[in-house]
Amino acid sequence: MTYTSPSPLILKLFFVCIYLFSGACSAMVPVQVIAENRVKLEQFQMGYFVDKSEQMPFEEVRQQAFQVSSNGVSLGTASKTTWVKIELENAKSTPIKLYLHHPYAYHNSKIELYEVVDGELTRARLLDMDDKTTQQWMYRGSAVFDFTLAAQQHKTLFVKSLAFSHQWFVLNLYDEDHSKRELLGQYTDIALLVGMILALIVYNLLLFLSSRLREHFFYACYLISGGFWIALSYGLLADLFNVYGSVTLKWHLSLVSMPIFILLFMVNIFETKRKYPIEHGALLSILTLLIFEFVYGLFDIVTALKYSSTLAAIMMVVSLSVTCSMLVRKHPIARFFLFGHGLFIFFSTLAVFFYKGKAEFNYINSHGVGIGIVLEALVLSLIMAYRIRTLEKLKATQADLQLLASTDPLTQLFNRRHFSLAANLLLEQAKQTGQPVSIAMIDIDHFKQINDTYGHALGDKSIKRVADVIRGQCRHEDILARYGGEEFVILMPDTVLHEGYVVAERIRQALEKMTIQVDRDQSVSCTISVGLAEVDADAPDLQNTIDHADQALYSAKNNGRNQSQLYSLA
Ligand code: GH3
Ligand code: MG
Ligand code: MG
Repeated sequence: MTYTSPSPLILKLFFVCIYLFSGACSAMVPVQVIAENRVKLEQFQMGYFVDKSEQMPFEEVRQQAFQVSSNGVSLGTASKTTWVKIELENAKSTPIKLYLHHPYAYHNSKIELYEVVDGELTRARLLDMDDKTTQQWMYRGSAVFDFTLAAQQHKTLFVKSLAFSHQWFVLNLYDEDHSKRELLGQYTDIALLVGMILALIVYNLLLFLSSRLREHFFYACYLISGGFWIALSYGLLADLFNVYGSVTLKWHLSLVSMPIFILLFMVNIFETKRKYPIEHGALLSILTLLIFEFVYGLFDIVTALKYSSTLAAIMMVVSLSVTCSMLVRKHPIARFFLFGHGLFIFFSTLAVFFYKGKAEFNYINSHGVGIGIVLEALVLSLIMAYRIRTLEKLKATQADLQLLASTDPLTQLFNRRHFSLAANLLLEQAKQTGQPVSIAMIDIDHFKQINDTYGHALGDKSIKRVADVIRGQCRHEDILARYGGEEFVILMPDTVLHEGYVVAERIRQALEKMTIQVDRDQSVSCTISVGLAEVDADAPDLQNTIDHADQALYSAKNNGRNQSQLYSLA
């Protein structure tokens, strides 16, 4: 068997065929046939051509080979000037009015539409986002061009899009009815995302105002930056306020302020300054770079944004490393942060691939940064909830400790120290309002005998029972304390001496009836003596009043015990 190499002529023919075939393929943009009055053409094939020179005139462009592509293409930063070719044919016997929508027009600087019929240019429209006189085709953020297809007519549309940086576009064709519907409901999803973020912003600002914790403030600022960027980049601001073109470029600085605030948030939430100096240093370094970029961007936004993806990459590496380090140190917040920030990084990476023209055009890729921000914001709000819960727990523990320090373990009444604090406060108040205040000192009669006869344990039990009975006879606003071994004190606000006497007698009589079980066959009872004094309205003083009540108690004891005595100021 012999092998003969193909002759040069055959090879040439082969390459010519390939060339023709590929040329034909790129030139053959499928024709969209309109056969009825209802038109909603969204997912259709069209052709595109990237003008690398960025200045090719239309007549030259229309001679170029167009690549066939599906509608919705991202071509990255290297394709700023892009042409789209759409072939249309009206199969009906009546003319039809159609509307070409360019929903991402707000992020372009110029859009041009050329109509060609039978090889002749019939109409050209030039839309410049920075020139108000050419903006009659802008409807909020979308460009909408109307045109008519005559009966049986074949028309070729050429659409030129000039981007500021990233090139991506979608072109849709509608009849009048569908066109209106489309424009009405276009940004509801973005409005929903921004609305969610707005609610979180208000919530965190309120939390900041009430708690003064800086992390709430930084988190709110981060949300403001993120929410603003979403509204700007996904067309909501253009839709609401009719703003587009180069004036909006500077507002993209919100994409730089967002990581600045998330870093400040990290510094606060992880308390890096106090606890983790190395991590703190790393965060502050990248923070300085970002602040520098932000300030630089105020003067030269285009250059600043050029470095933004590099800085964003460094920032992600640093923030992730710090979070992992926190995770290793078992910081309780680290796992939430890692999860939330991980979501942001994941979806933003999809978006970066999309903007660079390396990922397909779908909702998630084209809205990646926004989705990432919202998911991260929601997860980070868990951190807030966790922090609030921790602080509440701490407060509750402190309150418990305070209560423990102010109560007597045997009777659960306030101790003498707490009584002095609370009584002085109450006396201050009474001074302002002129309210009468009375104090009762109570001492159990012959208590030593109970101890000596029945033992210390029964003595303790008796003290507890007496305390319970006194408590049962007091009002909520009275301050009741165990003043010493078997002595009690009651401060009664809004009570004159005689009213205090009534209370004292009520307690004394209740105690007379009380019995304490020693064992199955034996019980014991005890009585009390009470001394009462009223606070001197002219010279209110706690210790003085206690001394007076003590004196009255002394006379009750001397008078035979089991009675109440009043101290008279007169
Ligand atoms: P009087 O009628 O004059 O008050 O006689 P009294 O025996 O009660 O005398 P006094 O008030 O001076 O004695 C108090 C006694 O209470 C002295 C002490 O042994 C006893 N006591 C003090 N604190 C406690 C305590 O916590 N538990 C018990 N079981 N006894 C206590
Ligand atoms: Mg005593
Ligand atoms: Mg006693």
